[in-house]
Amino acid sequence: MCPGDTVYLKSHFLYGEDFQYRKGILVIEEGIIKGFTGEHIRDPIIHRGVVIPPLINAHTHVGDNVIKDIGINKTLDELVKPPHGLKHVLLNACSDEELIEGILDGLEELRNNGITYFCDFREGGLKGINLLREGYRRYNRRFPCPLILGRPTTSNREELKKEIGEILKVADGIGLSGCNEYSDRDLKTIRKLDYKMFSIHANEHRGSIEYSRKTYGMSEIERIVDLKLHPTFIVHATYTTPYERELLREHNIPVVLCPRANASFNVGLPDIHSLMDEGILTGLGTDNFMANSPSILKEMDFIYKLYHIDPKEILRFATINNSRILGLEDIGLIEEGYRGVFTFIRDCPSIRYSKNIVASIITRCEKGEVVIYGGDDDKGSY
Ligand SMILES: [Zn+2]
Repeated sequence: MCPGDTVYLKSHFLYGEDFQYRKGILVIEEGIIKGFTGEHIRDPIIHRGVVIPPLINAHTHVGDNVIKDIGINKTLDELVKPPHGLKHVLLNACSDEELIEGILDGLEELRNNGITYFCDFREGGLKGINLLREGYRRYNRRFPCPLILGRPTTSNREELKKEIGEILKVADGIGLSGCNEYSDRDLKTIRKLDYKMFSIHANEHRGSIEYSRKTYGMSEIERIVDLKLHPTFIVHATYTTPYERELLREHNIPVVLCPRANASFNVGLPDIHSLMDEGILTGLGTDNFMANSPSILKEMDFIYKLYHIDPKEILRFATINNSRILGLEDIGLIEEGYRGVFTFIRDCPSIRYSKNIVASIITRCEKGEVVIYGGDDDKGSY
């Protein structure tokens, strides 16, 4: 499919925000969905299976794919706390080429899992961002397409301003490890510059919340609101009080949940029901490649099994909600006006004879059942 063409795609679709199961021929004109046609089309593109809205992974750290599973039986702080966590020590010992190779494998894994866009917290300042850019350039495919949130490396206030400015020239925004590592003044300095996306891990585990209360007199979420940091979204919120959930709603702060990663790190699980009851926009990510596979399909299955949330709601987390959180305009649903970006599920035993297709997709499908169209030359098409 090339931009500019009219494409006729014949298949079964999960149409609209309610994921209505529809069979038909979808018309995509200049990359935009125009709706179904009742006309006879001679040679439509046929996909045998189900076309679903594009899966999006709203939180990854693809850079640590090269140190997979270093964390078994380690605590979260031992592993990831900057600057002396095992992750940082081991990554510092890797050559650029090793890191890029790891990123290339990570991109392949995202693609095999049907991920179209992913938002990555890229450590290592400007250099870290350039490594991911280089990996994506070599990968030479349009999807998975990275949105990159860079992280400054310096703690000197004057240099911090300069480094943030440099990062913002090449990244889509800033993604901080957490507010515990920064003074109020530094956080305000970082946030003062105007940019598209700003995100931060918050309330990931009891230890980080206790440290924040002890040091700053309030939890991480409370402090983020108090300092008027206005994050585009926060990541984790494994623990939230009713007051914190009220703050998130009042200030329109979405939450990207990573429950499988939380389980991997043994830090507890987020209260998704209460976040939803409060009306907070929630999305899904998979966090560190070193600790968790980037499969949003597995993430959805995990959530269903543990929380028994309506499968349609869970699929919304991974598609339209993630898209809204990341500001991806016109992506995330199969509906008129949206861009023709999809994830394709093959005709397979996991969905055949299903009496609840959305439930079957989110609880049974795995990466082998995602169809990847296009070869090495498919940059700019899908
Ligand atoms: Zn993270």
